[in-house]
Amino acid sequence: MNKNVLGFSFAVFFLITGCSTSTESEEEPEQEDVASDAEQTDNEEETEPVFEENDSKEAGSDTSDQSEDAAEQAPPKTNEEGELENPSALDALVNRDYLLPGDYEPEDLTVPDVPFSFEEEHPKRQIREPAADALETLFEEADADDMQLYAISGYRSYDRQEAIFAANAAEDGVEEANKYSAQAGESEHQSGLAMDVSSPSNDFALTNDFGETPEGEWLKEHAHEYGFVIRYPDDKTDITGYQYEPWHLRYVGEDLAETLYEADETLEEYYGVHE
Ligand SMILES: [Zn+2]
Repeated sequence: MNKNVLGFSFAVFFLITGCSTSTESEEEPEQEDVASDAEQTDNEEETEPVFEENDSKEAGSDTSDQSEDAAEQAPPKTNEEGELENPSALDALVNRDYLLPGDYEPEDLTVPDVPFSFEEEHPKRQIREPAADALETLFEEADADDMQLYAISGYRSYDRQEAIFAANAAEDGVEEANKYSAQAGESEHQSGLAMDVSSPSNDFALTNDFGETPEGEWLKEHAHEYGFVIRYPDDKTDITGYQYEPWHLRYVGEDLAETLYEADETLEEYYGVHE
């Protein structure tokens, strides 16, 4: 997947980075900040939603090109508000157009037995059980390859995301905040299926440089073997609508991860909901 197409990737966007731990300290005092930073930066921010629900691929139509699998998939069902009817699906598409309901909280959140970059107890240590099991295996195998991965931030509640966005909006205004902060319901972190990771080789920061560390390269090559995808690749920013986030792992299950990896597709492409 990673054909380093760093080409024109919208480096241009330069988002203010989100999850980067480096910036955290300056924003807000408590340890929450760190988390918050992470949150705001995390994918959801920046770029505007580039994708729309266009039924570009009708099921059953001839898809001569690459991914047949993908083309056959119908987009997830949503209500009038754009909220997913089945938010707990492991293959759920979560972005600015496909939202998690405000009252959705996974029932199987747990803390994976992996190294974290911080010591304290915190809800962000959590991730859903299937993802936790897979993450533990991934970390074990990475360790066996001398990779030093650390978990940084996982589950984030709707309310917490809402509070973070509100704080950012109060500070910079809604318009500006929208560029780097996700609004509630739009974050994969609420699904309990995402975990941001980093490494000592990148000073535990959530920055683009992580993608070029041994750990970042290892993930591009192996994450799918454990059911994870690098959700926001550098060469798909115009499709996902999000900046490059080599640190953001999304669990989708081994079969789908393999499918996406082999087809070099994002979830938006898989569901045919991009331009
Ligand atoms: Zn993330």
